[in-house]
Amino acid sequence: MSFMLQDRVVVVTGGSSGIGLETVRLLLAEGAKVAWCGRDADRLAASETAIKEAFPNGQFMTRICDVLKADDVEAFAAAVASELGNADCLINNAGQGRVSGFDNTSDEDWMAETSLKLFGVIRPVRAFINQLLASDIGSITNVNSLLAKQPEPHMMATSAARAALLNFTHTLAHEYAAKGVRVNSILLGMVESGQWRRRYQERSDTEASWQQWTGAIAEKRGIPMGRLGRPEEPARALVFLASPLASYTTGATLDVSGGFGKQL
Ligand code: NDP
Repeated sequence: MSFMLQDRVVVVTGGSSGIGLETVRLLLAEGAKVAWCGRDADRLAASETAIKEAFPNGQFMTRICDVLKADDVEAFAAAVASELGNADCLINNAGQGRVSGFDNTSDEDWMAETSLKLFGVIRPVRAFINQLLASDIGSITNVNSLLAKQPEPHMMATSAARAALLNFTHTLAHEYAAKGVRVNSILLGMVESGQWRRRYQERSDTEASWQQWTGAIAEKRGIPMGRLGRPEEPARALVFLASPLASYTTGATLDVSGGFGKQL
């Protein structure tokens, strides 16, 4: 069964690495036209080179854009409309987590984390909403974390900000349901990607291989499936929720955590 996204325009924020990049790959394999952004020019260029190699006939564009900067995001939305056409689907993936507890999270850290998780979605939604409303399959799909429902002390600010994003996603879904734009999110556990690669580089046990290091994390954290997720696994969930295959689903969350989610 196809995702029914042939020639549709899909926007992925933070598409230059990890889950975002795997989502871009899957969308292009499905025949969609894809636009993605990131802040770092070299990382964005590297992702474009890799995609060009894999999809020489693919229709895509990239743009340097910080999702926290309103001007960047507005310019990105205008460029998508003129280069690829009206956006049908927006996938809000850009971001990263913050490891800190109450005693080492300053007011500035709280502000930065809350801002990233909320405005990192609010700004792209505001910039693209008119394009999505004009589509007959409009959708917004947000990458969120299990921390939204299952907070952890060592990621206190991220957990609180993720809960706010989940709440916002739900109300946004209700506001736009009758206007034809679906809004959903995925809740991630731990997925191998850029963030974890960076943490691996900084690990204390320098003897451990990537497999050993990630396997030990999965075991210690009690992930029932015994491993971290692979970026293509959340990518498939994102593309499903964004696509017309999920045409009667809005305001929903899809757990992609290898069984780590404890809620019924
Ligand atoms: P990566 O670091 O591999 O990818 C993050 C992507 O987002 C990069 O392309 C990065 O590019 C981009 N990005 C980050 N901040 C911004 C910004 N302000 N504006 C535009 N682009 C930005 O991480 P993952 O693939 O793991 O993460 C993807 C999403 O999943 C993130 O939102 C993350 O918080 C979330 N998540 C991941 C989990 C995991 O275990 N991997 C767990 C829970 C949630 P650049 O830095 O160049 O801007």
